[in-house]
Amino acid sequence: MSNSKICESADKVLQNFINSLDDVETSHHRMDSQKIKCNFGQLGICCKLCANGPCRITPKAPKGVCGANADTIVARNFLRAVAAGSGCYIHVLENTARNLKSLGKTGGEIKGIHALDRLSHNRIRSS
Ligand code: SF4
Repeated sequence: MSNSKICESADKVLQNFINSLDDVETSHHRMDSQKIKCNFGQLGICCKLCANGPCRITPKAPKGVCGANADTIVARNFLRAVAAGSGCYIHVLENTARNLKSLGKTGGEIKGIHALDRLSHNRIRSS
């Protein structure tokens, strides 16, 4: 994987770390392969909330079948995306907290300690 492209990141330490990985596919790799976006989707003016859609807002069709305009559709899409994304990461955080608690109770072993070590050393050197 180290030869495959990844997206640019503001976090250069993380970007360099991901670039150094072999045979690992991350969201940074998939973001690059998904960089060609649908214009309606990217602007948030495509709605698929009900079976009357998908509705796409254009100057000739400024409202969806239900009457929702671009502002309504963008706001609904944004709120749904934030709720879904937050839900996903809260789940990741919950799993991490449970794993740490379990490790603390059992004195278990941290998997991937070398990757963690390498990442933390890179962060210390860059700060
Ligand atoms: S704009 Fe209205 S009619 Fe069209 S898909 Fe969305 S909710 Fe359904």
